[in-house]
Amino acid sequence: GTKRSTNIYTGHISVSVRPRPLNEKDGPNSWIINPEASCVYNKEVGEFFYDHVFEPTVSNTAVYLQTVQPIVKKCLQGFNGTVFAYGMTGSGKTYSMQGVRGQTGVISLCVHEIFEYFHSTTRRGALNKVSCSYLEIYNEKLYDLLDPEGTFQLERQSTSVLRRRPATSMANPSSRKRHISSSKSELRICDDPTFGIKVVGLTEFEAPDADSLLRIIRSGDSMRRTGGTNYNARSSRSHAIVLIHLSTQNAPGMPKTASTLCLCDLAGSEKVSSKLERRTEGSYINKSLLALGTVISKLSKGSSSHIPYRDSKLTRILQPSLSGSSLISILCTIHLSSQTFTETVNTLRFASRAK
Ligand code: ADP
Ligand code: MG
Repeated sequence: GTKRSTNIYTGHISVSVRPRPLNEKDGPNSWIINPEASCVYNKEVGEFFYDHVFEPTVSNTAVYLQTVQPIVKKCLQGFNGTVFAYGMTGSGKTYSMQGVRGQTGVISLCVHEIFEYFHSTTRRGALNKVSCSYLEIYNEKLYDLLDPEGTFQLERQSTSVLRRRPATSMANPSSRKRHISSSKSELRICDDPTFGIKVVGLTEFEAPDADSLLRIIRSGDSMRRTGGTNYNARSSRSHAIVLIHLSTQNAPGMPKTASTLCLCDLAGSEKVSSKLERRTEGSYINKSLLALGTVISKLSKGSSSHIPYRDSKLTRILQPSLSGSSLISILCTIHLSSQTFTETVNTLRFASRAK
């Protein structure tokens, strides 16, 4: 039957769909994309409506302008915002968020937008601060992508200390990779009266300009865990979350506003292959994605009932960024190929639940 989602824009959750261009080896296209009607259609499963549906040829910049820039602008006014890339492995989550050569990603576009705005207000005397953390959730465990060995965490007395590392110590990240699984590097979450939650010992770097911030984020990118699956030899099996903290004050003595922009490249949403270890990883990954789906769906309905943030690490960490007046944009990346039809339907249904 037709799975037609109601197209009511709830105001703070926006859901969009971005199809990846088909390759020759992908097989026939199963879907009709209609950007004017914001609709994705297949004759077996019917129509799905969203806030935005993009052509497969759309650029990252166009996606950014439609779905992310409004959130960044709100963050600059003191609201929290969260952007998710959701979809099966190989559908274009990392392409959209990190970008590739010649195709700047959403993260980089956000960072440039923030600093452009802050530089203009600094000239008028405002005091601005931008800092960044980068987390990974793998098998329901938390890791600090800016400090994978836990070195800084052990040295540190207070969780609120900001540290700057010289760029040279971030060089050669691969040499540190083998230490990643040591348990000392696993982070803990605790309740915090101000922010709701706090990740104990999470590294936070302050950055004076866009290039420094992007260098920090890139050092975290190279630390992400990857593994082989049916779909992609280097598929991402973890959730990667960039947290950009903004604080601004129009002049000394004036009230401060603070906000956080969360940029999430989620783990592949597909059912995992038959290998036991993959199944274990997948069950954890799906636990977080399932919880995210439930939380977002309750939020989008304006549900006043209990919202189960505590059901997974992902939803617990994102709680301050999802609740209250926060803005959320979910970018669902899909394959058009008949070979991945079931997974695409699953992604579209997840996206519909969020509406
Ligand atoms: P994911 O992060 O969802 O697993 P990737 O972003 O790594 O997927 O994309 C898988 C492959 O497809 C990469 O080689 C990427 O460059 C390519 N790709 C993804 N989306 C697009 C797109 N919109 N246009 C062109 N190539 C894309
Ligand atoms: Mg990826």
